[in-house]
Amino acid sequence: MALVVMKFGGSSLADPDKIKLVANRVIQKKKAGNKVIVVVSAPGDTTDDLLTMAENITSNPPERELDVLLATGEMMSIALLAMAIDSMGQKVISLTGPQAGIVADVNYTCARVKKVNPNKIKQLLAKDNIVIVAGFQALNAKGDITTLGRGGSDLTSVILAASLQANFCEIYSDVEGIFTTDPRIVKEARKIEYISYDEMLELSGSGAQVLQSRSVEIAKKFGVEIHAGSTFSSNQGTIITSEENIRRKNMEALLVSGIAFDKNQVKFTIIDLPDTPGVAAKIFSKLAKVGVNVDMIIQSAAVNKKNDISFTVSKQAVKKTQIELDKLASELKASEVICDEQVAKVSVVGIGMKSNVGVAGKMFDILHKKGINIEMISTSEIKISCIVDERDLRMAVQELHKGFGLSTTK
Ligand code: ASP
Ligand code: MG
Repeated sequence: MALVVMKFGGSSLADPDKIKLVANRVIQKKKAGNKVIVVVSAPGDTTDDLLTMAENITSNPPERELDVLLATGEMMSIALLAMAIDSMGQKVISLTGPQAGIVADVNYTCARVKKVNPNKIKQLLAKDNIVIVAGFQALNAKGDITTLGRGGSDLTSVILAASLQANFCEIYSDVEGIFTTDPRIVKEARKIEYISYDEMLELSGSGAQVLQSRSVEIAKKFGVEIHAGSTFSSNQGTIITSEENIRRKNMEALLVSGIAFDKNQVKFTIIDLPDTPGVAAKIFSKLAKVGVNVDMIIQSAAVNKKNDISFTVSKQAVKKTQIELDKLASELKASEVICDEQVAKVSVVGIGMKSNVGVAGKMFDILHKKGINIEMISTSEIKISCIVDERDLRMAVQELHKGFGLSTTK
C-alpha cells in the first residue's frame, strides 16, 4: 500500500464547491488503495486578507501574534475539508501543524522546520483515517505557533513526505504543471513532463512562481519526487525529480527546458567609483545590512582609476537602496547614481547546458537579431540571464522560446 501526500493550494479551496471537489479527489486516491495525508493552504486570498486585518489595527504587530492570526487561515481549510470528506462517508481527521508534530525554530513568520514527530499521523493512518494537516504552520520550543513563510504549505507537504517516506508528494494548484514559459506571453508554451530540482529552483529564482523554492530545496535534499498538477483536471502534470532520473528517462536532456522572466527588477548604476579595494565590499555590505537583496552585479573595467558598478534589486527595495546609495555616493565621491526602473530579466534554463557549448552565444544572437540590447548578463551552470529593456521583454521571451525549439511539439 502506497503512502501519498496530496497538497492543495488556496485557489483549490476558495469556495464550498471547490472544497467538495477536493474531497472527492482525496477519496478517490484513498479508494485506489493508498494511505493519504492531505496538506492544505488557507482558502483563496485568506492569508492576504488576514495580513490586511492586522495592518488595519497596527503597522507594527508583534510577530508572535501575527503568526497566531495567520495560522487561522489553514485551520479553516482543514476543518472544512474534513467536514466535506466526513459527509461523503469516509474516515477522516484534521490536525493543526503542532498536532501533526511539526516542530520549528523560534523565528516567527519565517520559521525553519527542525523536526517532525510523525507518530500521531502514523497511528491515525494505521486506523484507516485520511489525515488532513494544516500547511504553513508549526510549533516552536516555546510552545508557540509559528508560520513558515509565504507559500509554506508546499514546504509542509514535502517535509511530511520526507519524514514519513511517502512514495511521492502531489502538489495541486489551478495550473496543470510547470510550463516552458508563461502561456499568457507565449501561446505555444507547453507543459513540461519532467524537470530537475535544480532547473525548478533556477526557474523559480528567475520569476516563475509555481512552487515555493525552499520546498524544492528540501525535496532535492531528501529525494522527494514532486508531482505538480491541477486540481481541476485529470491530465498528467509535471514531475520534479533528480537529474539522474530524468537522464535515465529522456536519454538526452533538452538544451533548454524553460524560459523564465522577472519584471520585478530595477537597475542601479553608480558612476565613477574609485578603483580601490574595499569599495564593492562597502556598498554591498551596507545594502545587506538594511536587508536589500541584490541580484545581478557588474563592474566595468577601470578607466583613470575609476569604474562604474551596476546591480539589480527588486522594485520593493528601490527606496531603501536609493537612500543608502545617496549616502555612499557622497562618501565615496562617486559622480552619480542612476536608477532605471524600466528593466526586466529574461533567463533560459536547462541541464543540457552542462554538456553543450554555445548556448550563451545562441541566446545573445537571438536577442541581437531582434535588435534587443543586453544590459547585463549572469550565468550559472544551468542558466543564462540577461537584463533587457522592459519594453523588449515580451518579444525576447517569444523569440527565445521559438529559437530554442520549445514552440514546436515533440
Ligand atoms: N497561506 C499561506 C500563504 O498564502 C501558505 C501557503 O499558501 O502555502 O502564503
Ligand atoms: Mg498560497
